[in-house]
Amino acid sequence: MLAHVLVEPGRIELRELLRPSPGPGEVVLRIRAALTCGTDVKAFLRGHPKFPMPTPFGHEFAGEVAEVGAQVKGVRAGDAVMATPTGPCGSCYHCRRRQENLCDTVMETITLGAYAEYIKLPERVVKNNLYAKPPELSFAAAALLEPLSCVMHGLETLPLEPDDTVILIGAGAISLLHLLALRALGTQRIAVLGRSPERAAHARRLGAEKVFIGGVEAAAASVRDYTDGRGADVVIECTGQVPVWEAAPSLARRGGTVVLFGGCAPGTDVRLDTQRLHYDELRVYSPFHSTPRAVRRAYELLCSGKLPGDALITGAYPLPELPAALEAHRLGLGIKFVIHP
Ligand SMILES: [Zn+2]
Ligand SMILES: [Zn+2]
Repeated sequence: MLAHVLVEPGRIELRELLRPSPGPGEVVLRIRAALTCGTDVKAFLRGHPKFPMPTPFGHEFAGEVAEVGAQVKGVRAGDAVMATPTGPCGSCYHCRRRQENLCDTVMETITLGAYAEYIKLPERVVKNNLYAKPPELSFAAAALLEPLSCVMHGLETLPLEPDDTVILIGAGAISLLHLLALRALGTQRIAVLGRSPERAAHARRLGAEKVFIGGVEAAAASVRDYTDGRGADVVIECTGQVPVWEAAPSLARRGGTVVLFGGCAPGTDVRLDTQRLHYDELRVYSPFHSTPRAVRRAYELLCSGKLPGDALITGAYPLPELPAALEAHRLGLGIKFVIHP
């Protein structure tokens, strides 16, 4: 089979590899759609601590079952399916407390290699996070299951009321996925704060009630106007930039919630205004990854037809043109790009 291998930062090779075959609890998929992701762009440009190189590459996918292991039940060759690239062990301290996103081995067992003709899903993915794809959902939209699961995990504990105002900081794929998810869940008053007019235009097209162009400080007055001077009920940071983490609480109302969604570079610190945190009782949290519960909610939302996932896919490339797709993603020429092996 053909598969891209990330050999070192800046170098991808399309190689002819042996097609994987499944162990007893495993499933091999024929990839029909794999999506570009900011994480992949970063790994390609400067490496990634969790992806020692050379490594198979790509982690958002959907496809058809090619082969199933002897002990797999309920899945057959030819089934159209969608899955996430990770699954919890089910038995460690965190898994027993239903914090499977923090499972001791969840990240070290991630399945990479979606930019390929075939991928093998380990037993923990098959057991927890593999779902049938309904015919009306495109393979590209189905491949949003992974990022949407992370979004749903972050939204899960928010005390969202229908008339709440939500500010999304950033206008990249993760922010716009939050926008679509929040709208599907019934939130109307959503503003997106972004730096590029092109991305702001995407946000408007996808249903943001307001779009503010510029940094957090520049947008603060507009956010106050938008929220009757109070600040937002919920602020969701989607950039992973230290200055944005530090400024995000300034947009929240007293008693509001600040979600720091975008992970920052290793070794960085942030300074937060303790007066606002304490005397304005801000709730600040930083969700990581997803649980099988969140994957199920993401799956249900995608299948409900209320979340127009295809609107986030702004271009398609054949497998050999992955480098061009990653470059288009990096340059912000669209939101997400689909690779069709
Ligand atoms: Zn991703
Ligand atoms: Zn575990």
